[in-house]
Amino acid sequence: MIFELPMLRYEKDALEPYISAQTMELHYEKLFRFHVNCFNRLTDDFQVVNTNLSAIIKKFAKQNSVLYYTAAQVLNHMLYFGQLSPTPKITPEGNLLSTINKSFGSIGEFKHKFDKAVISFIGSGNTWLSQKEDGTLIITQEANAGNPITKNYKPLLICDVWEHAYYFDYPCRKADYVSSFWNILDWAVIEKRFDY
Ligand code: MN
Repeated sequence: MIFELPMLRYEKDALEPYISAQTMELHYEKLFRFHVNCFNRLTDDFQVVNTNLSAIIKKFAKQNSVLYYTAAQVLNHMLYFGQLSPTPKITPEGNLLSTINKSFGSIGEFKHKFDKAVISFIGSGNTWLSQKEDGTLIITQEANAGNPITKNYKPLLICDVWEHAYYFDYPCRKADYVSSFWNILDWAVIEKRFDY
């Protein structure tokens, strides 16, 4: 079973000046490919025939196995790189916007809370916006490869807060990284994840 490295919708230098080509080379080309290669090896080792990432993550999360960790790394990076664009839709509309307003007050208050979550994150992991089973939205910080689907949340938006995501471009400046992040986040993708 071969899982292919998901293609980018943009060139590796297209997110500059917000994310450099060097960071993309390290983060997408080397690290993401490494996780995909590990995942392919592990699905053989674990004799996994169905490579549905969400199903594997849910099934193996309790055991905290290397297969769980690697499947989550692959899914997390798919969601991260898949939502970025050099020509993004810069603000959400429709159902997603009204649900953000209901959950956080306004898009501005949501971004403010999300920024605070990213900046206060200690260690490696990701900050997420997800939808709970009752339909409301929640911001969570998940350490390491953690993914909100293990809490039965639907992941909508991810900010990679591992140092490899920002340290080259924003050394010791996590606040600048998250403020740049909003300039390349394509809300059209987040709307599709929400409505799916
Ligand atoms: Mn990463």
